[in-house]
Amino acid sequence: MLTETDDLKKGKSGKEDLLLEFLEKLEEGTQKEKVLKQTVEAKTVEGKLKKVQLEEEGQAYEKEFTAIQQKREGLISRIDSSLLKQYEFLKDRLKGVAVAEAKEATCLSCHMQIPPQMYNELHRKDKIIPCPSCLRILYLAESGGSKKP
Ligand SMILES: [Zn+2]
Repeated sequence: MLTETDDLKKGKSGKEDLLLEFLEKLEEGTQKEKVLKQTVEAKTVEGKLKKVQLEEEGQAYEKEFTAIQQKREGLISRIDSSLLKQYEFLKDRLKGVAVAEAKEATCLSCHMQIPPQMYNELHRKDKIIPCPSCLRILYLAESGGSKKP
């Protein structure tokens, strides 16, 4: 500020030039500030819109998740509790997969043979048969049928 005042004192024409230059720069700065402000405002609005959009998306996912959860709970309530415990136990121990398809007396999960007696029992579908090797609950995928667990 001091140097500026010194410069202004030096000459009348120089003083005016400096003043004009200063005003120009000031105006330029003001314009730039205006543009920046508008940009910031636009971005803020954009951000708000995006936030709303994301929130809506999040709510939709949450709704879907709740629906799936309710469906799961509905299914669980129909399953025998001891079987459910067995299932949860196996799922925890067997990398999240507690069931395995059995085909032609073979467990398709561990590819081990299922003893014939056990395979016959599996066809009767009156009890839970675990794979003797990987312990997953065996099920039969009927050929041509659409029945799947
Ligand atoms: Zn197995």
